[in-house]
Amino acid sequence: MFQRILIANRGEIALRIIRACRELGIQSVAVYSEADRGAHYLDLADEAYCIGRPASTDSYLMINRIISAAEIGNVQAIHPGYGFLAENAHFAEVCRSCNIEFIGPPHEAMAKLGDKVSAREIADEARVHVVPGSDGLITDEKQALEVAARIGYPVLIKATAGGGGRGMRVAHNDISLKTGLKAASAEAEKAFKNAGVYLEKYIERPRHIEVQVLADHEGEVVHLWERDCTMQRRHQKLVEEAPAAHLPLSVREDICKAAVRLIKAAHYTNAGTVEFIVDKDNQFYFIEVNARIQVEHPVSEMITGVDLIAQQIRVASGEPLPFKQRGIPCNGAAIELRVNAEDPDNDFRGCPGTITKLRVPGGLGVRFDSHVHEGYRISPYYDSMIGKLIVYKPTREQALACMRRALDEFVIEGVKTTLPLAKKIFNHSAFVEGTVDTTFIERTW
Ligand code: ADP
Ligand code: ADP
Ligand code: MG
Repeated sequence: MFQRILIANRGEIALRIIRACRELGIQSVAVYSEADRGAHYLDLADEAYCIGRPASTDSYLMINRIISAAEIGNVQAIHPGYGFLAENAHFAEVCRSCNIEFIGPPHEAMAKLGDKVSAREIADEARVHVVPGSDGLITDEKQALEVAARIGYPVLIKATAGGGGRGMRVAHNDISLKTGLKAASAEAEKAFKNAGVYLEKYIERPRHIEVQVLADHEGEVVHLWERDCTMQRRHQKLVEEAPAAHLPLSVREDICKAAVRLIKAAHYTNAGTVEFIVDKDNQFYFIEVNARIQVEHPVSEMITGVDLIAQQIRVASGEPLPFKQRGIPCNGAAIELRVNAEDPDNDFRGCPGTITKLRVPGGLGVRFDSHVHEGYRISPYYDSMIGKLIVYKPTREQALACMRRALDEFVIEGVKTTLPLAKKIFNHSAFVEGTVDTTFIERTW
């Protein structure tokens, strides 16, 4: 097992990893930008190094500075968290060539899955349904029109390097496809330095279901059941729950097995998530793999009792998984809310500022994963998440009651947040009955 780990991230997930290290008896080395200097969570790490100016391109994305901090900190491994360098295959490769274990999949598997077009090929190999679409990248307008004629409108233009809900555009006819292609490609080049786009059938009113997997170096691959992340705004998740309510048992089993097949075909190790969209007939289609820990991992931890961060560290250090598939339970119901500093009345724009008052809910079944405190300044440089409110109860109905109660206790002043919208969501009959789709928030509010 490692003695010291560097955490190449910030905020909530950095704190989550510091805590896991402490429980495992591992020392943690944090890094921070000038914007994060003085943040309280840094005090909980064993050491912390400043790696640069606030902009993430000058700090959390600077591979050379992170490697230098790792060498000065004398660590054996780096945990990348999510976002920033977590899905950068080059970074994973650099770590290992410096004899530092990267806590994540092999860089080859990450590179293959990180590109959505090549991930679709692996899914095909593993006999997992992909959304009907183009075979590979779109090379010219004529080919795009042919694909659209074959699969039928509406179609979705997607960036092969896309992420974070960006790089997607719906086209309803030939004209919007032609203009959309150019715009999407230019956007993708700007955001991801990769102009490659492909086409998928735009599935109307789907649900987003994803499967948590863990794989060790001995070829053992298990799933930790599914999460429903249908409640989104701008193609980004806001509420996640496990297990998925109202998904027939046979579909649950099939989708989890499909995820395991795909992960095996990719020669993947460590934690990962296989994402699907599910149409109204419960047919599921693969969309992408997130080759890292995800924001919403706590709901899977609650229903299985598995500490996913600890397992990531153990697997990276060479330990085999301590359980087989049949040893992974699915107990109770967990729901997570992303508490973001953003303005739901203004297209969910980020709302940086200082938290002037904070009252965090507690009690049986309530978990709040967050790095913030009263007086904390939410920086405009990073994403707007303040924390994650997670509830866990024996049934979904009880979890919902617990969530509503926790939201009533929750006070955040000084910045606009998603809390008022969350109250409406958890009281809405469509959410309670489980009849929502990914467009619900935009259609309803
Ligand atoms: P999850 O599926 O874990 O919810 P998200 O797509 O919300 O993941 O992304 C998690 C974090 O990573 C967010 O902070 C998001 O902004 C960031 N992120 C994900 N993919 C990319 C990308 N390709 N480029 C930049 N940021 C990304
Ligand atoms: P990202 O890498 O940004 O997370 P995904 O491919 O996972 O991109 O898609 C993000 C979200 O966009 C999905 O959760 C879903 O809501 C929507 N989406 C993606 N592909 C489709 C599709 N073919 N049809 C309808 N919605 C889609
Ligand atoms: Mg996704």
